[in-house]
Amino acid sequence: MLSGKNIIGFETSSEGTVGIQAINPATGEPLGPLFFKATHSELEKAVIKASEAFKTYRNFSGNKKAEFLEAIATEIEALGDTLLERYVAESGLPTGRAQGERGRTLSQLRLFAGYIKEGSWVNAIIDTPQPDRQPLPKPDIRAMERPLGPVGVFGASNFPLAFSVAGGDTVSALAAGCPVVYKAHPSHLGTSELVGTAIIEAAKKTGMPDGVFSLIIDDGVEIGQALVKHPQIKAIGFTGSYRGGKAIFDTAALRPEPIPVYAEMGSINPVFILPKTLKEKGEALTKAYLGSVTMGVGQFCTNPGLMVVQKDDTFIENLKKETPKASGGIMLNRGIQAAYEKGIEQFSLGAEILSTGTQPEGFTAAKPMIFSTDYAGFTENEHLKEEVFGPSSLVVNCQSKEEILKLANELSGHLTASVFGTEEELTAYADLLQILEQKVGRLIINAFPTGVEVTHAMVHGGPFPATTNSRSTSVGTLAIHRFTRPVCFQDMPDSLLPDELKTANPLNIWRKVDGEIRK
Ligand code: NAP
Repeated sequence: MLSGKNIIGFETSSEGTVGIQAINPATGEPLGPLFFKATHSELEKAVIKASEAFKTYRNFSGNKKAEFLEAIATEIEALGDTLLERYVAESGLPTGRAQGERGRTLSQLRLFAGYIKEGSWVNAIIDTPQPDRQPLPKPDIRAMERPLGPVGVFGASNFPLAFSVAGGDTVSALAAGCPVVYKAHPSHLGTSELVGTAIIEAAKKTGMPDGVFSLIIDDGVEIGQALVKHPQIKAIGFTGSYRGGKAIFDTAALRPEPIPVYAEMGSINPVFILPKTLKEKGEALTKAYLGSVTMGVGQFCTNPGLMVVQKDDTFIENLKKETPKASGGIMLNRGIQAAYEKGIEQFSLGAEILSTGTQPEGFTAAKPMIFSTDYAGFTENEHLKEEVFGPSSLVVNCQSKEEILKLANELSGHLTASVFGTEEELTAYADLLQILEQKVGRLIINAFPTGVEVTHAMVHGGPFPATTNSRSTSVGTLAIHRFTRPVCFQDMPDSLLPDELKTANPLNIWRKVDGEIRK
């Protein structure tokens, strides 16, 4: 049973008088209950509690924090169909997707639990002393990653579980030792409360401090901006639009104490199909391309918004034949659908409409659109380089390899780039790969970008404007380092050092001792 209340540590709260409701995007009907927008005093309580909780939580062992993350997974799983039904009603996404995303969320929690249990992630480095060194003795110097402090997290509308309340940002912050104050996305308020309550249950059962997690409700920027400005907040994790991420980044930079903002924003994820491969596999690649463009009604940050080929008439004919078979779907909310409609209208001013898919029924329904232009059209129309969030994509027909290279050089930062080609072709286009490596976080060979594995080596990031910090990732265990900083202890008595740095290595982790990796 949903309460519509803010979750302030171990308490719930509804001080505010303004209520908001989630909307079913398939029908336009409001979904109960009324959710109370957080007041500034509720936000203050949540941050102060997080700050208090940090005093103990920061020193919890990897095992203890892992127990908490595993318990969150168990509590989310125990929500069963209640969670799935609410997810589907709020997002318009099908049950299969809800199940898949829940599985991803649970395995992400468990992956981080295993990672911090093992413990070597802290990058423990020990430089042993040389008391007899001349002319001066060398001190004992030891360093490791330590948590930053309370983290504010904003999730995106398009992943109500995996990039939301218990998503990658929250999990990596908690794993690092940082309490989280989460700003609920108004597109899936019920899903957020269910998962937020599961986190609190897990916290209570595993002996976590009150304030290790809070969930605050708002449907505008007021409370979110206040969260970013709060002096006790030490970092921000954000997934969403360029406009939102950049605004939060700017606010954080203007604070008396600026803090890091890890914002994952828009991306058009360019795909290049090299000529021989396009000739040989054009038909299969056309279908796979359309599948990737329309997956999840195109509402993925890794949606392939740009396809670059050396002009090939058969490919264009295939696209014209196959696109009408591709169906659209229900978009996440009215705002996103309106932005999609506006985006494709602007695109049609600078590019030709090559083909369209079928328009389904529904309050926020949208249909697939494929546009095309040539290299000159692409370079002359700046707006064609911007993301249109939804099931659309632009094909750029280049005349030569030189045009392809020039186009690649003109790209800004993206999450991914994909290149299709045989090994021989890829070798001949090694210069293209060199350019793309500088533009993206993940360079993909012979696959479309949709589908992001949650692993240790995954990089879901990239240069600006894909993110506000290209030196990190929001997916995979490397994400933990966004919420830590290296701290060096010089000549600290062994008994006072964190276990990770004690001479006897009681946690048996991998450490770099005098430049050599060992246990
Ligand atoms: P959004 O509109 O940016 O909203 C995300 C969250 O940030 C919401 O809670 C929103 O609050 C808040 N917010 C937005 N602007 C703010 C501001 N100026 N100050 C404080 N808080 C602010 O994102 P969305 O609704 O999820 O829209 C989808 C977009 O996300 C697409 O463009 C897509 O490309 C992008 N996306 C990117 C990734 C990625 O990994 N890079 C993943 C998923 C989605 P309110 O809604 O309450 O205003």
